[in-house]
Amino acid sequence: MRYPIKILEQVQRIDLEIGAVEGEGSVVRSAMKKAQELLEGAKRLHEALGAELEAINVQRSEIQVHLDETNAKVKKATDRIGEVKNDRELKALTREKSQGAKTAKNIEAELRAVQAAFDGKQSEVEVKAVEVEAGEQELERLSGELTAGKEGWDKAVEEKMKLRDELVRDIPESLLKKYEAIKASRGGRAVVHVKNEACQGCFIHVPPQLYVQLMRGEDELISCPHCYRILYVEDQPATV
Ligand SMILES: [Zn+2]
Repeated sequence: MRYPIKILEQVQRIDLEIGAVEGEGSVVRSAMKKAQELLEGAKRLHEALGAELEAINVQRSEIQVHLDETNAKVKKATDRIGEVKNDRELKALTREKSQGAKTAKNIEAELRAVQAAFDGKQSEVEVKAVEVEAGEQELERLSGELTAGKEGWDKAVEEKMKLRDELVRDIPESLLKKYEAIKASRGGRAVVHVKNEACQGCFIHVPPQLYVQLMRGEDELISCPHCYRILYVEDQPATV
């Protein structure tokens, strides 16, 4: 019995095509996974920055309250200066007023520093928010790509499988099992042709005796002694 190596080679071609189609899906899926991770990272940072901004905001409010209180004291002292009865009281109120004004000046400087920190943090939050939004859009785009692609990929695989099922009918079970085993261990290519007396799977020369057997097209199954792939020779053009 002649082994249907050429048919097996067609099956292999279909299997490689199916692998490529499935590969497209997994490329999109892994891009989605990466985009998801990036988005989650950006969201976490955005949240952390938001909390830092809120803390600065609380600090700013407290300083503002302190400033308002100090200004109120200064105003009170200023108002009372007009109503003083004696020199001692005037001196005390004047001191209170000038000390209060000095304190207010310091608090204002502190407030400006905190305000600058607030503004800086706020722009960090805004930048991160843009990043989060871009991440969400990218994920949505990939998800759309996956949905759109899936239908086409599924259909392509289905058609190829149909063709494969037909071809496989002509291949003995034992040969198919051998093919599957070699395919699994040799990166998808189990059937290779011999060109210039070399196996096209591992590119090592096949022994002359084996080559002669191959050229004669003998009935037995011939495997490469180096990589164990099933060998065949391309049809020879008829010599004139
Ligand atoms: Zn080989």
